[in-house]
Amino acid sequence: MRTVYHYVNGETFEGTSGNTQPVLNPSTGKEQAAVALANKADVDSVIAESAKAQPGWAALNPQKRVRIIMEWIRLIHENMDELATQLSLEHGKTFPDAKGDVLRGVDVLEFALGAPHQLKGEYSSEVGTGIDTYSLRQPLGVVAGITPFNFPAMIPLWKAGPALAAGNAFVLKPSERDPSVPVRLAELFIEAGGPAGVLNVVHGGKEAVDAILDSDTIKAVGFVGSTPIAQYIYERCAATGKRAQCFGGAKNHAIVLPDADIDATADAIVGAAFGSAGERCMALSVVVPVGQDTADRLRDAILAKIPELKVGHCLDPEADYGPLVTAEARDRVHRLIAEGVEAGATLLADGRELDMSDKTFNEDSLADGFYSGPSFFDNVTADMSVYSEEIFGPVLVMVRAETLEEAVSYPNDHVYGNGVAIFTQNGGAARDFCKNVQVGMVGVNVPIPVPIAYHTFGGWKASGFGDLNQHGPDSFRFYTKTKTVTSRWPSDDSAGPQFTMPVM
Ligand code: NAD
Repeated sequence: MRTVYHYVNGETFEGTSGNTQPVLNPSTGKEQAAVALANKADVDSVIAESAKAQPGWAALNPQKRVRIIMEWIRLIHENMDELATQLSLEHGKTFPDAKGDVLRGVDVLEFALGAPHQLKGEYSSEVGTGIDTYSLRQPLGVVAGITPFNFPAMIPLWKAGPALAAGNAFVLKPSERDPSVPVRLAELFIEAGGPAGVLNVVHGGKEAVDAILDSDTIKAVGFVGSTPIAQYIYERCAATGKRAQCFGGAKNHAIVLPDADIDATADAIVGAAFGSAGERCMALSVVVPVGQDTADRLRDAILAKIPELKVGHCLDPEADYGPLVTAEARDRVHRLIAEGVEAGATLLADGRELDMSDKTFNEDSLADGFYSGPSFFDNVTADMSVYSEEIFGPVLVMVRAETLEEAVSYPNDHVYGNGVAIFTQNGGAARDFCKNVQVGMVGVNVPIPVPIAYHTFGGWKASGFGDLNQHGPDSFRFYTKTKTVTSRWPSDDSAGPQFTMPVM
C-alpha cells in the first residue's frame, strides 16, 4: 500500500517516527493509503531546512518570485484532472466540486502575482527639512499553515501563495485525512522552478502541530479548522510570540423575506446546504423565513427538491454530492439528527434512511461508504443542538421568525459569525441587513458569499481569531512586517545634540 510521506527540499522525507495513519476512500470505506505522522524531531528538522532556504528566496526580487508562481499556476492547470481526482478520492467531494476546490486556490495564487505592488510600501517626502520617511514590507522568515480536511487544495494555496510571494518560506501541515494533493501541489511548485526547501510539507496530528507552535523559528501561523483547535492555536501562538490568524467553525443562516422568489431561493438553499455533503465552512445550514406563509411555501419548495438529489460515489458524474469524510463524521451527523428529533423538531426528510447496501460504482460496492442522505428539519428552536452546533453534514434546519428583526437576531446571537445571506427583492431591507448583521461575510441573494481572491475572507466571533483576514490585501499584511525608515540628507550639518523629542 502507498504511503504519503513528508516533502522536504523537493524530496520525499520518510521521517523518524515510524507512525502512520490510514487514508480512506470515503466513497467505498476502504483504506487506500497510509500517511506518515511526524514527531517533534521530524518537524524541527523540516523547519530547519526551511530556515536555510528562506534568505535566498527573500533575496530574489518579487517579480522573479511571482514568475515562478505564474509557472506553478500553469502546471496546476495542466495537472488539474489528476489533482481533482486524487482530491475527490480522499475527501469524497464530487469531481467537479474538487476542481472548484483547486481553482479557488489558484485564484489566490493569481492575486499573489501582484506581490510587487502589494510590497511596495509608502513614501513621504520632506516630512521635515531634508527628511524623508518611507516604509518597507519585509518577509517574516519561516511561517506555517495548518489546514483542514475540507479544502485540501484551496486553503493550503490561500496561505502558501501570499506567504511565498512575500518572500517567506512556508511549512504546510495539511489535514492527515486527505494528504496527497498538498504534497502534489508542493511538487509542482518545485517543478515550476521554486527553490528546494521554500515550500515544505509535513504531515501529522497534535504532536506535529505542537512542534510548530513551540518552534522559535516559526514567526506566524495561519490556521483553518474547528473552533476549539483554532482558539487553542491562537492562544499558544500568543504565548510564544507568534502572529496567528485562526479561522474556525460556522453556522450560516439564510434569512428569506416574503418577497423573495421562493423557487429560485429554494434552489440556492438546497445547493448551499447539501453541496459537498454540507462539509463547507460556508455551507448554508439554517434557513430563517419571515412569516408563517413564507415558511410554508419555502418548506414545500425545498421538500419538492430533496428527492431529486442524488448521493453517490465521488467520481459518479450523476452525483450531486458524495459521502462524508469518515464513518465517525457520519455517525456524529446521525447522532445530532437523533437529538433534533428527541428535542421536538419536525424531521421532514431523514438522511439516515439512505440505503447504499446494494449500490455500486464501476464495480466498487458503496455499502461501506460514509453516506448520509439530505436531512431537513422544520420548527427548530435556538435551544436545540441541531441549531447551536455546527453539524458539518447534509442537514438543513428551518427556524421560523415572525419579523425581520427577529430573523436577524438568530445570526446575530449565534456564537459563530462566518457567513450569512438574505433573499429578498427589497434593496432597502437588504442594505440595512448588510450594515447591521454581526457576521463577517454577507450574501444578498447569494447563498455562499465566499469573497473573490482580491477581497478578504474571514468570519467573526467564534469563526475567526486574529485581526487580519485570509487572502486579499490582508494576507500581505499578515505575512510581512513593516519597517519604517526616516532619512536625512545632507547629514553633515549637525546643530549639536538635541534633548527633546523632534517635532516637525
Ligand atoms: P480540525 O480542527 O479537526 O483540523 C484542522 C487541523 O488541525 C488539521 O490539520 C488537524 O491535523 C489539526 N488538529 C486536529 N486536532 C488537533 C489538536 N488536538 N491539536 C492540534 N492540531 C489539531 O478541522 P477539520 O475537521 O479538518 O475541518 C473542519 C472544520 O474546519 C469545520 O469546523 C469547518 O467549519 C472549519 N473550516 C473553517 C473555515 C473558515 O475559513 N472559517 C474553512 C474551512 C473549514
